[in-house]
Amino acid sequence: MSPTLADLSEAELLKRLARFAPPDQLSDDTAAVPSDRRPLLINTDVAVDGIHFSDATTTPTDVGWRAVAANLSDLAASGAVEIEGITVALVAPGRTSWDWVDGVYQGISAALGQYGGILLGGDCSKGEQRLLSITALGRLGPLRIHRNAARPGDVLVTSGPHGLSRLGLALLQDDPSVRDIDLPSTLRDKAIARHQKPTPRLEEVQQLLACKPEHLPWRAGGTDSSDGLLSAVVGLCNSSGCGAVLRNDQLPVSEGWPEGSPWTDWCLAGGEDFELVLSLPGAWADVWQQYVPKSQRIGQINAEAGVIRWAHNHEQVDTGGFDHFGQP
Ligand SMILES: [Mg+2]
Repeated sequence: MSPTLADLSEAELLKRLARFAPPDQLSDDTAAVPSDRRPLLINTDVAVDGIHFSDATTTPTDVGWRAVAANLSDLAASGAVEIEGITVALVAPGRTSWDWVDGVYQGISAALGQYGGILLGGDCSKGEQRLLSITALGRLGPLRIHRNAARPGDVLVTSGPHGLSRLGLALLQDDPSVRDIDLPSTLRDKAIARHQKPTPRLEEVQQLLACKPEHLPWRAGGTDSSDGLLSAVVGLCNSSGCGAVLRNDQLPVSEGWPEGSPWTDWCLAGGEDFELVLSLPGAWADVWQQYVPKSQRIGQINAEAGVIRWAHNHEQVDTGGFDHFGQP
């Protein structure tokens, strides 16, 4: 049987965790990151038991993978082209089994193996609720993608379909809204995989950099859709002092995605999709879309500051969305 964290001494726990980092990487209290002329992008993201993961829907390796993927998604959406590494702060009750922690760090290692970077360091503490706080460091490429860099006349494009993670969660929770619906099995499998093992869109950023038409400046508005598609569009518009028109006949959904409620809401506000949402000059969007077959043009940026409308009836889109501190 797996020992609990209370059974292990702190020294033994750290010794075990050090196996997930390069030799001697965790032997000091700080890590040195080699200097480089490219700026470092840094971000921190937390994953909390009961909010971002649960034993019912996420294996320990998925918890680790998702936590890394969420961080790297933010780096990608800022223009990172290379991942240096991450630090991990782990809080867990003493009754937590070592096997759970081992699984989480295996998931972390698998994600770093896939996308680059090493475990640079971290900390552990006893606490009431399991949580991971990850800080990720990545190198910026030639383009800093900013949330406030959308401009009227840009087109809005996203790197892939939305709502899959929310559907995956509903399927894993045996939610009544999906229990009696005849969904294609490929859609079910894709949704569950997307929820448990999301993909940060680092490759799609590389393609964006590679395909910029020469006559255009290095300027792109963008963010990721970790809090939902609509929230990403609202963030872009509010930060840039712009508005947007969305095409309801061009919602980015997967093949076989049903219409109506709750499906449209899940596409717009399901959250944890981790796709890029970009505001680009039309010519750049056109060529990027050829490289990213799952990408979808969803609308256009205009000068009507802070207002999101539907193209077909000019009504304002309800942008209630996801609130981090709202009631569930
Ligand atoms: Mg994000």
